[in-house]
Amino acid sequence: MSPLPYGTHDGYINGARHTSTSGQTFVSTDPATAQPLAEIHTASAADISAAVAAASGAFAAWSATPAIERSRILHRAAAQLRARNDEIAEVETRDTGKAFSETSVVDVVTGADALEYYANLVGGGGLNGERVQLREDAWCVSSREALGVCVGIGAWNYPIQIALWKSAPCLAAGNTMVYKPSEFTPLHATTLAEIYTQAGLPAGVFNVVHGDGAVGAALVAHPSVAKVSFTGQVSTGQKVAEAAGRGMKYATMELGGKSPCVILEDCALEAAVDGAMMANFYSSGQVCTNGTRVFVPEQMRAAFEQRLLEKMAYVRAGDVMHPATNLGPLVSKVHYDKVREYIRVGIEEDKATLLYGGLDRPANIPAGGEAGFWVHPTVFTDCTDDMVIATEEIFGPVMCILPYTTEDEVVRRANSTQMGLAAGVFGKDLSRCHRVVQKLQAGINWINTWGESPAEMAVGGWKLSGLGTENGVRSLSQWTRNKSVLVEMGGLVTAFAKL
Ligand code: NAD
Repeated sequence: MSPLPYGTHDGYINGARHTSTSGQTFVSTDPATAQPLAEIHTASAADISAAVAAASGAFAAWSATPAIERSRILHRAAAQLRARNDEIAEVETRDTGKAFSETSVVDVVTGADALEYYANLVGGGGLNGERVQLREDAWCVSSREALGVCVGIGAWNYPIQIALWKSAPCLAAGNTMVYKPSEFTPLHATTLAEIYTQAGLPAGVFNVVHGDGAVGAALVAHPSVAKVSFTGQVSTGQKVAEAAGRGMKYATMELGGKSPCVILEDCALEAAVDGAMMANFYSSGQVCTNGTRVFVPEQMRAAFEQRLLEKMAYVRAGDVMHPATNLGPLVSKVHYDKVREYIRVGIEEDKATLLYGGLDRPANIPAGGEAGFWVHPTVFTDCTDDMVIATEEIFGPVMCILPYTTEDEVVRRANSTQMGLAAGVFGKDLSRCHRVVQKLQAGINWINTWGESPAEMAVGGWKLSGLGTENGVRSLSQWTRNKSVLVEMGGLVTAFAKL
């Protein structure tokens, strides 16, 4: 028995826990205290092959299972996730460091929502094809066929949500999956696999392997894999997309961003400040769609900053399980060092004006948290477009305020980035908000709100921020391939039928 609070974790292959053959382990760490939480077994090459073989073996029967029956199984899994919400959310809080006030209302809930959404969609005929009459005695039929074995690779910021946003449409469409969670947040994976099994998912349809990028790369390169759905950094996504492209595999890439949050001068100040805070400090700033470049009209900057400074007191560190805590630590020591380095660069090299926060630790770090990865929420102002902190994804609680003067100018500056994940506009004149948002180069956009990402809404980045989408009706087609059949009833095959 491991003395660690969350024991040992291993892979899940062919409907059961699988003892890894690599002999190698790694540790998952509690970001709030820097103490070890669990020991995880790394998958070997043989374990990876076994997981892909299990998924391959299960594919024929699962893809032939009537959609309504697949739908029932996914609904049962969603019900179990909801029934166990707080228990799973607490594990997510321990593993990621995110406050329970968030994980208990977002992470499991939005994952279960996606399961129900795709279960309903395929159960209601969402995979139906089409028949086109070409002439009296000929027609063609196009159907949507499952792809085969799909690989899901997750980031660490929304672990079980990412696992569900990938596996829900994948399994609903009749595919099977091998899922690799981030090595920083692996604890949810066995629980999810066991819930699927208890809900009636046949053995081999959903499998889990653990490990770092080497395990991910081996999965992507495996010749029996038909599709890769990846969530992570742009630089990793480029490698994954390249490797998938070599094997002509389908690929969905959910990557990073440096998204603009555009405040218009007629906005409701309170809502704009709340929105900008949501776009920078939720999940301690570790949200891919964060609006970290906050463009504020020069004439309202003083009022905006004053109200923002007053409200920064509402961003509260504390015991991560306490309902009043809404700021947890960052996920890992390596990420903590990276974010603090960006704050240092902002102060010393970019020479941006530090309005709030900085390199000090936040107040109210809970007892035992001295070695934890707590970063002070930070606001820089007077930022310019060329600053490092205004161009690179920091992925921590660091807001950059960029003053602007005209609408054309803000649109041009907002778009002058290689990334295009999200964007948002705050203003009372909705026509103007629409006009501005229409010109912003981003796949996920909000007007007068920030961050809500329901199962009904397709999400995916433009430019370097990704390929394809997750969620929403149309994303289902990214888990199927087209099959067309033309039927001729006239008995004639033209061209060579006669001399
Ligand atoms: P990361 O790219 O470091 O790792 C992501 C996953 O890729 C991990 O499971 C890792 O083990 C694996 N991996 C690493 N190298 C690999 C390789 N060569 N081949 C295959 N897999 C490999 O990302 P991260 O630090 O875990 O996550 C943070 C990033 O994720 C941020 O950039 C954030 O914006 C992004 N993100 C995007 C979305 C979205 O929907 N667009 C959602 C959440 C997070």
